[in-house]
Amino acid sequence: MTELRQNAITREWVIIASERSRRPDDFSQEKVRSATLPLYRADCPFCFGNEHMTGEEVFRLCEDEKWRVRVALNKYPALSPEGDRIRTYHNLFRSVSGVGFHEVIIEHPRHDLTTALMSFADVANILRVYRQRYATLRTDPRVASIIIFKNHGAGAGTSLEHPHSQLAATPIVPYEVRFRTQEAIRYFDDTGECVFCRTLADELAVGDRIIFASEHFVSFIPYAALSPFHTWIFPRRHCSSFDNITDEEILDLAIVLKTTLAKLYHGLGDPDYNYVIRSSPTDERRTDYFHWYLAIVPRLSLTAGFELGSGMYINTALPEESAAFLRSVEIGNG
Ligand SMILES: [Zn+2]
Ligand SMILES: [Zn+2]
Repeated sequence: MTELRQNAITREWVIIASERSRRPDDFSQEKVRSATLPLYRADCPFCFGNEHMTGEEVFRLCEDEKWRVRVALNKYPALSPEGDRIRTYHNLFRSVSGVGFHEVIIEHPRHDLTTALMSFADVANILRVYRQRYATLRTDPRVASIIIFKNHGAGAGTSLEHPHSQLAATPIVPYEVRFRTQEAIRYFDDTGECVFCRTLADELAVGDRIIFASEHFVSFIPYAALSPFHTWIFPRRHCSSFDNITDEEILDLAIVLKTTLAKLYHGLGDPDYNYVIRSSPTDERRTDYFHWYLAIVPRLSLTAGFELGSGMYINTALPEESAAFLRSVEIGNG
């Protein structure tokens, strides 16, 4: 018989289909994409030397007079920085002008790298740039919420090979953010504690879904993971907004993020994935109820009509087995 599990943070239900369960390494993609990529491509706008091909540059992090990470405006932005935030209401037809920021973070000068194969120092540079952009853009009064995300591979929504991520600063609080915040407030009102701190304490106490733990961060497969190898990285310190991360925590998160992604890379053959940093709305930067975190969703299965109709997922990988498998993956020096 299958088991239905509920995620206490998102309230989502998932069917853990252990009878259909496949062995963890059956999810392997058997492709090693990055081994075949060139260091440089003349037609890649993100490669070192091709800086003129991107949108306007808004930030760069340099070492030895060379850039290590660059940020440019998205050439085809979903939101643009000019103009006022104007809300329009006409009966049930409501709209807001599309002001905001849509930036591309070019993570490395080299074309052939991916986070799983970068040095800890490189990953720390990316996280420093995330913090800089977050801290800068949240002061804009038109910005209500900031999402930092990465699409890796065609199955995750990108055709660009060059390592990059994106930031979207929106003029409204998106539903996924609003809903999580409201649930977190409700849990806090009922119990006097943060549902994320509680989840982390419970996961650490059980232990069998932990992938990797360090001084400041823990990476684990949640009890009610919606899809195979769906992974969360939680800071141990309660904090609502990503830009509160300290320098020391950035170095530590670089180790946990790279290690987790390298285990997926080596264990599952470089799967396509998305990751997203979930923070509180910008006006709720310090709260007792919300706790920022990073979610990684490998794209190993397709959603279909049942998910569309019910909002409920079927996960064919048992979270405890997936976590045990990733713990056992050696990442060596790569
Ligand atoms: Zn490139
Ligand atoms: Zn917390």
